[in-house]
Amino acid sequence: MIPYGRQEILAEDIEAVVAVLQSDFITQGPAVVQFEQALAKEVGAAQAVAFNSATSALHVACLALGLGAGDWLWTVPNTFVASANCAFYCGAQVDFVDIDPRSYNMCVDALAEKLRWAEGAGKLPKVVIPVHFAGQSCQMSEIKALADQYGFCLIEDASHAIGGRYLDQPIGACQYADITVFSFHPVKIITTAEGGVATCKSKQLAATLARLRSHGVTRDPSVISAQDEGGWYYEQIELGFNYRMSDLHAALGVSQLQRLSAYIERRDEVKQRYDALLSDLPLTVPWQHPDSHSALHLYPIQLHDPAERRRVFDDLRQAGIGVNVHYIPVHTQPFYQKRGFAWGDFPQAEAYYQGAISLPMFPTLSEAQQDEVVVALQKALT
Ligand SMILES: *Cc1c(COP(=O)(O)O)cnc(C)c1O
Repeated sequence: MIPYGRQEILAEDIEAVVAVLQSDFITQGPAVVQFEQALAKEVGAAQAVAFNSATSALHVACLALGLGAGDWLWTVPNTFVASANCAFYCGAQVDFVDIDPRSYNMCVDALAEKLRWAEGAGKLPKVVIPVHFAGQSCQMSEIKALADQYGFCLIEDASHAIGGRYLDQPIGACQYADITVFSFHPVKIITTAEGGVATCKSKQLAATLARLRSHGVTRDPSVISAQDEGGWYYEQIELGFNYRMSDLHAALGVSQLQRLSAYIERRDEVKQRYDALLSDLPLTVPWQHPDSHSALHLYPIQLHDPAERRRVFDDLRQAGIGVNVHYIPVHTQPFYQKRGFAWGDFPQAEAYYQGAISLPMFPTLSEAQQDEVVVALQKALT
């Protein structure tokens, strides 16, 4: 089976992890700091804080921005459930903004319209999470202007998008958001097995993220209330978690990060080749916004006849092509339907979902494998 995404682990990755295994620290050692610094440099961020997953990073990012009971978090339905669930972890409520039918990202007009309504209804969001779907940045400049106008915070869910660019800046520099979150699950662009990072501009915000990552505990003399008690002393000043990344995972991340730009280039080649080979088929290839250079985590095609999606998907799986679908609209999940959402609420995300299939897209996909995918797809569609 050719999967829809997969990691590449080289000898140098294995050596990097083994070196940590043989060192004094397998967690809470120097590799995590090294990974944070290397990643911050790579994406042009002032601060980076590593977590054991992007989900943990999203949770703590929401808390650090003050999200709590009585607050609203808005995201898109076309995402993984984690982008929305983080609100419930904080006791807040979730609402959604529909997607743009071309980019499949948060629709700026739908956001603006919903904000006008929410202002009147007294339901303005405290946090909005645009998701850079498939690796392509949302229209952050316009979204940031709305954040300034209505006074909400922005977390970019860039789980798909490390290595991508927006208006010639790397995603993660936080020019348009308070916090950006990356995921390093093996299907994503680079991997730490499990892991995530939150980047931000403010040193103080980074300190809060790091404290919430580790039980709400601090040794920072400028934060603790007591006089100098001694070298052992720490204080828990709020309720945090154990969301730390281990040094084993971080070492893998440092090693993988060195291949980030090569991976993006290779994904670009795979995309160009798909675009050319699929041009005569009854489907739409992923559209690229001129402001954005996608990291191309996914290659989601849109069948012109959604009624054929189930059969085409099954035919491809039957032919050994591990296609997938991204995403079942979050608001249609049973958990969300129990909270009042229903089919019909976000028609663009639902229409997109009906015709969507993600083709295999990863840097080590060979031309022969790609040809296999294309032939199977041609067969299924004719
Ligand atoms: C993968 C993913 C997450 C969660 O990442 P983990 O590191 O697995 O917790 C969140 N949001 C989006 C959009 C994702 O694709």
